[in-house]
Amino acid sequence: MSNWKIPFLDLRITDEDEKKRLMSVINTVFTHGRIVLGPEVEELEKRVASMCNRKYAVGVSSGTDALILGLKSLGIGPGDEVITTSLSWIATANAIAITGAEPVFADIQDDLNIDPNAIKELINSRTKAIMPVHYTGKVCAMTDIMKLADEHELLVIEDASQSFGATYNGKIAGSFGDIGCFSMNPMKIFAACGEAGMAVTDDRETYDRLISLRYNGTVNKEVCIQPSHNGRLDTLQAAILLERSKHLNRIIDRRRTIASLYNDKLTNIVGIPIEKENEYDVYYTYSIQVENRKELIRYLDTCGIETKIQHPILMPHQQPYQNTRCGSISNAERLLMRILCIPVNEKLTVKDAEYVSNCIIEFYKGGH
Ligand SMILES: *Cc1c(COP(=O)(O)O)cnc(C)c1O
Repeated sequence: MSNWKIPFLDLRITDEDEKKRLMSVINTVFTHGRIVLGPEVEELEKRVASMCNRKYAVGVSSGTDALILGLKSLGIGPGDEVITTSLSWIATANAIAITGAEPVFADIQDDLNIDPNAIKELINSRTKAIMPVHYTGKVCAMTDIMKLADEHELLVIEDASQSFGATYNGKIAGSFGDIGCFSMNPMKIFAACGEAGMAVTDDRETYDRLISLRYNGTVNKEVCIQPSHNGRLDTLQAAILLERSKHLNRIIDRRRTIASLYNDKLTNIVGIPIEKENEYDVYYTYSIQVENRKELIRYLDTCGIETKIQHPILMPHQQPYQNTRCGSISNAERLLMRILCIPVNEKLTVKDAEYVSNCIIEFYKGGH
């Protein structure tokens, strides 16, 4: 156990009521014994499809798997290029590369999401798809991105791992492109107690291919029609997610309350995330943009506040991707030196958030 006064994240289940409810749904799975693709998986798929305004959802073993299987289900592979952002967890680029396709990295806007103009400049005859990442809990500029995709007949696979429940022009993350992909790992907003993920779509054939791909490319569990791996969602995790889905609104509300308190306190002190009128962000992270970042991190450390630079290496700078095609990423490079995530998890109280804000204000008032 850490000694942080305000930890970045606390994965313990500290609420006794929640612990009871989770133990009870786990007990139900133990009792019915349908451990592999049990009824909870199907029920969760139906619930997630409905929450995301989609016809179909397929439970898979992780967010990374949702991306890999999503790409494969759309026929993306060797010879294809997929344009994605330069700032994301490396799983985004890896998923593209694992299919045999090549990731192509575009610059970001000041809101840390992919810049549609940068996408446009990278489109060529090999471009097959765009993979926007709804980073930090904010949906990308999807009107512009979908327009580009239409004009150039490109597929769109949304990496919505960080943005379950976020909306743009009233439309929910994961419902814009051909496929929406979610991670439900324990750090995410809609979180299991282990690895879990989900892919959503409106297309029946894509759905059928996803079902086959998540179980070794088989149909009817025996006949193999294409090489794939085992990427099924675990029934215990599905049961936990089903239970937690009932409380998701409360989790998002709490994160938005903390974010709004930070916004009030920190505006004019540091760069704060801007939520436009047509956006509804879920604050997977609360990323501030700061001067003297190193000193601030050290100061907050002495205040018992845990912060994170998420993610400190741009994907095109990671070793396997140093020779891949990449646009000018000067904005990403500039922002990467300035961003810092401060705690915004749903266990924080208003008092905690006030304390965090006050410490940051103290630091800059002290002449930094
Ligand atoms: C978490 C995350 C993933 C990967 O999800 P896993 O469930 O950990 O495999 C992919 N993309 C982004 C943007 C993420 O934040």
